[in-house]
Amino acid sequence: MKPTCDRSGYSSGPKEYLSDMAACSEARTMAVCTIRNFVDGAEIEFDDRHSSEKIDPASGVVSALVHEADQSVVDAAVAAARRALADGWATTPVRERAALLRRVADRIEARFEEFVAAEVADTGKPVALARELDVARAVANFRTFADVVAAAGQESFLMDLPGGRQALNYAVRKPLGVVAVIVPWNLPLLLLTWKVAAALACGNAVVVKPSEETPSTASLLAEVLTEVGLPRGVYNVVHGFGAGSAGEFLTSHTGIDGVTFTGSSATGSHVMRTVAPRVRPVSFELGGKNAAVVFDDVDLDEALTGLSKAIFTNTGQVCLCTERVYVHRAIFDDVANGLVARAAALRLGEPTDDRTTTGPLISKTHREKVLSYFALAEQSGAKVLTGGGIPRLGEALDDGSWIEPTLWSGIGNDNRVLREEIFGPVAALVPFDTEEQAIELANDTEYGLAASVWTNDLRRGHRVGQAMNVGMSWVNTWFLRDLLSPFGGMGLSGIGREGGASSLHFYTEPTNVCVQL
Ligand code: NAD
Repeated sequence: MKPTCDRSGYSSGPKEYLSDMAACSEARTMAVCTIRNFVDGAEIEFDDRHSSEKIDPASGVVSALVHEADQSVVDAAVAAARRALADGWATTPVRERAALLRRVADRIEARFEEFVAAEVADTGKPVALARELDVARAVANFRTFADVVAAAGQESFLMDLPGGRQALNYAVRKPLGVVAVIVPWNLPLLLLTWKVAAALACGNAVVVKPSEETPSTASLLAEVLTEVGLPRGVYNVVHGFGAGSAGEFLTSHTGIDGVTFTGSSATGSHVMRTVAPRVRPVSFELGGKNAAVVFDDVDLDEALTGLSKAIFTNTGQVCLCTERVYVHRAIFDDVANGLVARAAALRLGEPTDDRTTTGPLISKTHREKVLSYFALAEQSGAKVLTGGGIPRLGEALDDGSWIEPTLWSGIGNDNRVLREEIFGPVAALVPFDTEEQAIELANDTEYGLAASVWTNDLRRGHRVGQAMNVGMSWVNTWFLRDLLSPFGGMGLSGIGREGGASSLHFYTEPTNVCVQL
């Protein structure tokens, strides 16, 4: 039996938590954390008869035991959320909610390294990335939605009526109610806070279901929210899986008023069917098969830096990552060679090492999926420009779910490798000759999440950027996000937009009041 570092014991002080979390992530073979459901302002007692093992993706060793919520835990969470709304959270003055969100951001900052350690332990992502992206963005999410809600106004319309009278229309925005928040494993805290901050800003209560692969930071956030004085029941966490488990118990619950979901298109479709009988609103941020289009007038070095980020960040496990690279034939070899060199410069290794750039895939199951596309690419006659296998990183890491960054050429849009989301550090390079052809190739997909265009021609950049059938189109950059701008996708990539005012729209229901003057 492995010694247990019981996470509930950590709430006595952040420092103690930090050292124990570090122990959990460093002494992988010795320590196992228990992760609990959080309902109505308190953790539910851990029940190891209903728990699952969380595997550290870097080492393959069990790093935590997670209490799987059954129907009764989900019922309790939804009931607690509903009570919290009725007890006054839904009508809290906006400035109080905004002030609370700012305190959350400050508190995450104060416990920054604990969040980093928890995220690294769950995902195996490099510590530098967790600091720079995941936890930093969590702080920004709370600050941004505090600002957005504090500054939000309402539209009004003055109508002229026959006979010279007038009527005034204005809408009051009310919270949706109890919002189910379901998130994936690739950017666990970032994606969770992106939804929770906006939902709470609007006066909703939430029941969140983090991925079974990455349960820790949602639980740690529960501590922070309690510390800053969020009323009990406003934020609840239920752990577990999707179908036949906490995810489905939540989305099929009659007590929820809406679902905000980030995950795969297949699961999104399932969730949509589950909520359809009760006609609940959904916000879906789903998969992608994102293209980059590289013109021959480009600043090559700058483009290679951007493209290599777009392909390899977070081991390719970002919904926005590029898996299709269309390159003008005149510079095809330069781009291919340049990207191969960038791939070679990536540093795979111990996630807690500051110098590591690239972590493992999230799990062996996911690696099997990625490897099946490696096999398909090779069977289809693709040329493997680099990678194509499993790296050997030494005894401590060889049981992790590592994969080599991989690039192909010699296959086209008719191949499944270019049609289906792989979600790994991979891309296929395809040459084009004209701008029209490049646009056609990039838009030849059922997905519609993101695209990037690389050119030094300003007019072409705008033209092609606008022609991309996606929710987010970048020119000479990738992943640059102003949190006030709309985020989401079309086609298989999702329904609706979140971000800035778009989030306020999803997380509220307007009641129009028409007053005859
Ligand atoms: P997933 O769809 O397997 O799981 C996502 C979440 O849904 C998890 O919490 C899971 O437990 C839950 N779930 C699964 N089945 C469910 C069901 N039947 N009912 C209710 N909940 C269920 O996705 P994943 O593998 O965790 O994440 C990777 C996917 O997420 C990729 O497709 C990626 O593109 C997508 N993603 C999209 C965005 C975006 O903003 N568009 C961002 C990140 C990830």
